[in-house]
Amino acid sequence: MIIVCPSCSAKNRVPKDAISEQPACGQCHQGLIRLEPIELNEQNFSQFIQNSDLPILIDLWAEWCGPCKIMAPHFAECAKQNPTVIFAKIDTEANPRLSQAFNIRSIPTIVLMNKTTEVARTSGVMRANQMQQWLDQQLNTHNWS
Ligand SMILES: [Zn+2]
Repeated sequence: MIIVCPSCSAKNRVPKDAISEQPACGQCHQGLIRLEPIELNEQNFSQFIQNSDLPILIDLWAEWCGPCKIMAPHFAECAKQNPTVIFAKIDTEANPRLSQAFNIRSIPTIVLMNKTTEVARTSGVMRANQMQQWLDQQLNTHNWS
């Protein structure tokens, strides 16, 4: 499967069963699987989601949003538990065009993407265990292994 490097955006071909072995980027040698949220923005968003074969869970947030700050550690906690899902954050203030493209009406909103297709979204603060339940449910429903 193709994993896009969160550091340099290089496409890396990684056997599915090697994901647990902490594969490194062929170009910049940084780890491909971070177990922590990465930052997406208007510059790297399209390339990243188009090319990634892993599901991507995006947290759309803003600096001024209290509930977003409450949810941030839960999102990070969930990232640690899910090596085969890319956890990404988009700052809606810094990336108004992405925010508009996602038609964001309230934050925090989390959106699950399969490449460029939105699979599911939910708004409002979630704790790590609720988020995990929601995520498992979506992955099962959409037949991701
Ligand atoms: Zn790289």
